[in-house]
Amino acid sequence: METECNMCGGMVQVPEDVLRGEIVSCPDCGVDYEVTEIQNGTAVLRAAEEVKEDWGE
Ligand SMILES: [Zn+2]
Repeated sequence: METECNMCGGMVQVPEDVLRGEIVSCPDCGVDYEVTEIQNGTAVLRAAEEVKEDWGE
């Protein structure tokens, strides 16, 4: 399946058997996305950078 990249508008390839929590990358801009949900055969992506918890405290 394919999903549109939120950053550059390009198409991100997502494996048909992708699972929630897997990371996919945009081939055009290199942004990493986490698959947060699978809805009707379409993967819902969230920028993986938002996930990191590196506040050092
Ligand atoms: Zn992109």
